[in-house]
Amino acid sequence: MKNLWNADEAAKFSGALGECVYGSRLLGAESSLVLHGGGNTSVKASETDIHGDPVDVLYVKGSGWDLATIEPQGFAPLRLDAVKRLAELPSLSDTEMVNQLRLNLLDASAPNPSVEAILHASLPFIAVQHTHADAALALTNTNDGEQRVRELWGTSAVIVPYVMPGFDLAKACAVEFDRQANGDTVAMVLMNHGVFTFGQTTEQAYNKMIEVITEAEDYLIQRAGVDIKRSAIAAKPLSAGGSALDQATLRNELSRTAGRSMLLVRTPNERANSFAARSDLREIASRGPATPDHIIRTKQFPLIGRDIQEFVSNYHSYFERNQSRFPGVQELDPAPRVVLDPDLGLLTAGTKVRECEIASDIYLHTIDVIEASEGLGGFVALPETDLFEVEYWELEQAKLAKSGGSPALAGEVALVTGSASGIGRACADAFVRQGAAVIGIDLNTSGDPANPSLLELSADVTDRESLTAAVQAGVERFGGIDIVVAAAGIFGSSNEIAEIVETDWETTLSVNLNGVSNLLHATHPFLTLAPAGGRVLIIGSKNVPAPGKGAAAYSASKAAVTQLGRVAALEWAEDGIVVNMIHPDGVFDTGLWSQELVEQRAANYGITADEYKRRNLLGKEITSNDIGELVAAMSGDLFRQITGAQIPIDGGSDRVI
Ligand code: ZN
Repeated sequence: MKNLWNADEAAKFSGALGECVYGSRLLGAESSLVLHGGGNTSVKASETDIHGDPVDVLYVKGSGWDLATIEPQGFAPLRLDAVKRLAELPSLSDTEMVNQLRLNLLDASAPNPSVEAILHASLPFIAVQHTHADAALALTNTNDGEQRVRELWGTSAVIVPYVMPGFDLAKACAVEFDRQANGDTVAMVLMNHGVFTFGQTTEQAYNKMIEVITEAEDYLIQRAGVDIKRSAIAAKPLSAGGSALDQATLRNELSRTAGRSMLLVRTPNERANSFAARSDLREIASRGPATPDHIIRTKQFPLIGRDIQEFVSNYHSYFERNQSRFPGVQELDPAPRVVLDPDLGLLTAGTKVRECEIASDIYLHTIDVIEASEGLGGFVALPETDLFEVEYWELEQAKLAKSGGSPALAGEVALVTGSASGIGRACADAFVRQGAAVIGIDLNTSGDPANPSLLELSADVTDRESLTAAVQAGVERFGGIDIVVAAAGIFGSSNEIAEIVETDWETTLSVNLNGVSNLLHATHPFLTLAPAGGRVLIIGSKNVPAPGKGAAAYSASKAAVTQLGRVAALEWAEDGIVVNMIHPDGVFDTGLWSQELVEQRAANYGITADEYKRRNLLGKEITSNDIGELVAAMSGDLFRQITGAQIPIDGGSDRVI
């Protein structure tokens, strides 16, 4: 493992806490050391309190902070002596431990200190670093793990048998450290959990971490014939195999089991695919996670294949077998979070794209650990009683709850055409705000890949083949389609009928009518599999109920597409799909309207451009954002009983009313 310490970079961070921030970020930058909020670090320093008295302070990582992006305020400052004294208590409940730690903070607004704070306080070193390194887990998660650790590090490692994180682990570490530590001690290895290193400075602790993990990596090459640095997370991405319809079917079943719509994201990658295709997959992947900390993201093991009912009944039995030790504990939803299927590869489930990505990252590292441990004679996970204890541990559940409540459309997938600009863009943005994953389809995408919840695909709605390919790619990414918004459209020529050019007529109908027919055709199989029922919203026009002179092709195409939507509402009701139409008028902030054109039209009526934009009964301007919000709202729960409806959004028009 490469040592990334750079003296010039480190010098940019001031003081012992600054150096600790820098050293923590280096650990966080290496996913084979810590993943998504895992691991923790600390540094001890002498400060002066408000009375001017000296006080020894333990700065320890705050819960909820990620080492990769931690800031000085991510460390909780604790009175060191008081925290060390806590370790002398015979026992301490989790809730009381959190309370006692908070009582000893020097800053009332600091985050909750890490649950391993007492452990950090007890270690007699200024700087302490703790990781869940893959290479160390590969060694400890074997039948003869302890012997392997001794063989590699001799008496320079303090070995601590597995104990659940929290007060009991802090006690166990203190006991083992006193018993085993000597002048050569470089690390403390926690079986099935991770590694601690320490020093008089963060730089020393970090250097030791890299040294011991490099030794473990070399050991795995020699003894297991496995180069764990060839990590699955960096393996070559592939195009997805298997059928998108199979994936959507699996997502439907999984969501029903979870009791809510879930995304089912695929990670098509060389290592993940070959792991999922192993003939001994069921046997080696059903033993448990690499470290119990992963269980809140991945459940105790993945679903192998697609028999969700079997997985659920196994989960119920696991809960039944273990719940008696935890009076009053409520069973979590029994849906798998990781799926390994020989055809579909690695899939991860969650209500947010980010959750799915975290579970995927964790599982890719689990593959590294399992394959390396197999090379040492066999991967061994902890017994289920230990896994259950962590999964149903109040502090772990609090960690998940902290990741936020769910917005209205979390776990759902919306497909929007015309998503690069205007009304389509506004719809895509509104869906993202409501928590949905969005497949945006347009001729030219806007090329903004910053949001993982938005997948932009380039396709022509008038070309069935290209549209179908984009729909499939969208499903492969997020698992299905719940909502379809037909927003792609063109205005065409405003010529009167006598002057209509044939090509104008054809192009306008082709995009505004055939494009929607193609879209409905391509998405219907997926809409029928939407766990909460499919929803279609077609952007019509005020021209449908209230046509004007000119723009006959546009008016005719919007009237025809409204009729298409009404027929779809009739045909698809039995599939649980609702189809509604929205008729906007005068949305002037889209590409169709330039300021010049608005001024020209306004002049025709002898009014200002601003008056022209608000030329409706309510005197209000309609923006594309208003349409986006209405479309998102009509995709929500309130509208589940409505189909075939046509809703005007025009500020009120006497011709429509
Ligand atoms: Zn840990």
